[in-house]
Amino acid sequence: MPAPLSSPACARALLVWYHRKKRDLPWRREPSAYHTLVSELMLQQTVVAAVVPYFERFTTRFPTLQALAAAREEDVLALWSGLGYYSRARHLHRTARLVVHQLGGALPSNEEDLRQLPGVGAYTAAALAAIAFSRRTLPVDGNVARVLARILGERRPIDRPAVRAGLRLQGEKLVPAQRPGDFAQAMMELGALCCLPRQPRCPQCPVARFCRARAQGATGSIPLRAKRPARRRIHLACVAVRRRGRLLLVRRPAKTLLAGTWVLPLQELRAGEAATRAARRALAGLGLRVEGSLRPVGNLRHVFTHRDARASVFSAHARGRIEIPDARWVRADELASLPLSTFGRKMIAIAQRVAIV
Ligand code: SF4
Repeated sequence: MPAPLSSPACARALLVWYHRKKRDLPWRREPSAYHTLVSELMLQQTVVAAVVPYFERFTTRFPTLQALAAAREEDVLALWSGLGYYSRARHLHRTARLVVHQLGGALPSNEEDLRQLPGVGAYTAAALAAIAFSRRTLPVDGNVARVLARILGERRPIDRPAVRAGLRLQGEKLVPAQRPGDFAQAMMELGALCCLPRQPRCPQCPVARFCRARAQGATGSIPLRAKRPARRRIHLACVAVRRRGRLLLVRRPAKTLLAGTWVLPLQELRAGEAATRAARRALAGLGLRVEGSLRPVGNLRHVFTHRDARASVFSAHARGRIEIPDARWVRADELASLPLSTFGRKMIAIAQRVAIV
């Protein structure tokens, strides 16, 4: 039988372990509400190792919420380039502006008010409230849900909202009155270092004696997840066009995939449409007409959260005057200053291999 979970010994054991084992992460060195906000938004859907250099660059360039509020969106997105999920960067920027211009420059300290901020959902609000403002609450993301499901022996799918809410309710009973922020981070750290998705390291786990999944020999089958709907498969046609050594890039419109980032002109293929036709449409939409034929120069695949994208990349000579403002002829040495997504970089890398059509 595992030890009773209600015992404060569980939280104590976890906090002692966290104090000894926690990783040295830049947002933990100089904790502040702003650093917590930036790190939590960057960490959504992204692993810690990938976030560290982005966090350091971002907070060096924008050391305060005020500095971020005063920045241009283009510069914010450029520093986010390659981290993915660009709506997070736009939300962070909007939050900074809202807090500075409408809330007196300080982030609110309770979950309800935090949730009103752009891009701050239930998890991020709880993380900010616990870590930055020592509120007694528990942020439950996928990692923490896995840890809780195992400790509690939860055998229903943890991605069902009702099950997730139940886990949070139970988990909050474990949060100590003192150091709730450390407790939240300890739960996250346990999920990252010890209670791994496959092959949890139970012999090293500080809460092993409280864990029902371990007692029941069920660590391999808990947590359970409901089946995800398959990603929608899309096929895109992209075109590399050059003039005087510069490559034509366009900025993705707001509320579209990769909004705000720069890519080759592209179009999604319609049902039954040939990629070359979609490529011509991509240029025609800018006011350009292809001269001669399109030359296929490569293919790429990129998996987004909800889409599985395949892209055919062409190169072409094109004539005409560009009719939209969000298009630019870009030199190779200017690319680093533009917000580019990983997908955008991949297609540009293919285009750069082709010097002349
Ligand atoms: S004992 Fe194992 S399964 Fe249970 S919380 Fe610790 S690492 Fe996870």
